[in-house]
Amino acid sequence: MAEASAPETPASAVPEAPKPPGVKTRLPFQRACNEKNEKGKLCSGHLKRWYAADAGLKRQHGEDLSRCEHCHTIYKPAPGFEQRSGTLQF
Ligand SMILES: [Zn+2]
Repeated sequence: MAEASAPETPASAVPEAPKPPGVKTRLPFQRACNEKNEKGKLCSGHLKRWYAADAGLKRQHGEDLSRCEHCHTIYKPAPGFEQRSGTLQF
């Protein structure tokens, strides 16, 4: 590492990049996102089963990942909460 000082960032009107979506643990029966945005407002986005999760995420967090369709926060299933695999009831 040759750089000793912090790189100069232009102090122009560059908006701060939003934080990358985190991985949260879902509450039992939780169906809406409870993530808050920067204004402190609840997201309330729909949590959808996320089949397109990449293999690394699945290995780390399990297969049954959900994702908020609004803010794209990733949700893990609640610990100890049995997935009803097999019986599909809508
Ligand atoms: Zn959300």
